Amino acid sequence: ETVLRLEGLTKTYNSGRPNEVQVLRGSDLELRAGETVALVAPSGAGKSTLLHMAGLLDTPDRGRVEIGGADMAGRGDRARTAARRRDVGFVYQFHHLLPEFTAVENVVLPQLANGTSPAEAEARAMELLGRVGVAERAGHRPAALSGGEQQRVAFCRALANAPRLLLADEPTGNLDPETSDRVFAALMGLVADTGLSALIATHNHDLAARMDRVVHLDAGRITPAA
Ligand code: ADP
Ligand code: ADP
Repeated sequence: ETVLRLEGLTKTYNSGRPNEVQVLRGSDLELRAGETVALVAPSGAGKSTLLHMAGLLDTPDRGRVEIGGADMAGRGDRARTAARRRDVGFVYQFHHLLPEFTAVENVVLPQLANGTSPAEAEARAMELLGRVGVAERAGHRPAALSGGEQQRVAFCRALANAPRLLLADEPTGNLDPETSDRVFAALMGLVADTGLSALIATHNHDLAARMDRVVHLDAGRITPAA
């Protein structure tokens, strides 16, 4: 089963202006159910742009973005937002947790927005936090957590509504190498447990090597790792 299919994605910023930049020039990528793929490319190559298209946060100039078989690229904002909330979990380099809420509340809130009952949402949140080893930190606000703990909570939030696809943009890029290693392992464990597909942009070749497949983004196209 194909969870994500990107076909012929093109994206140009500042089209027709002197600062025009053609970021994607016909990118193709397919993720099967349960597959983990590393997206490796230097800064500025277009990794974030591609992830935003895949996560329906931005639209390509041309091309298809199929999630669960349906092309979402040309759909309206309502359909895209609904599909994003249902099918996609996002993780960024910085956690973007809500500062006024505790760790567990940050994982509960997206579930409430999705119609899950408070009791069920809390149980799922605690289970997710336990799986990545931060259950005992559940009652703390993000500012009281370490960088690694913050990212673990962010992973749980991304998976709160049981998406089929995880998209992560340098998810451990803000952590020291040792913490990055442990936090990445926690993320991969969570992904394996839930059987979801993951596309993870990273500079770190050691982390990339732990995934099922590595692809590069080169001159606007996806190429298999050599
Ligand atoms: P990466 O994630 O690989 O670092 P990005 O997708 O962030 O790459 O950026 C790719 C290129 O597109 C860069 O040259 C960047 O400056 C440019 N870019 C990204 N977003 C925008 C935008 N909203 N407007 C104009 N240029 C952009
Ligand atoms: P809107 O209702 O304005 O379309 P959303 O509430 O869906 O926006 O998303 C707002 C922001 O939250 C997005 O710009 C993105 O940064 C982040 N986001 C969206 N979907 C997810 C997700 N599944 N997991 C984590 N963060 C998300």
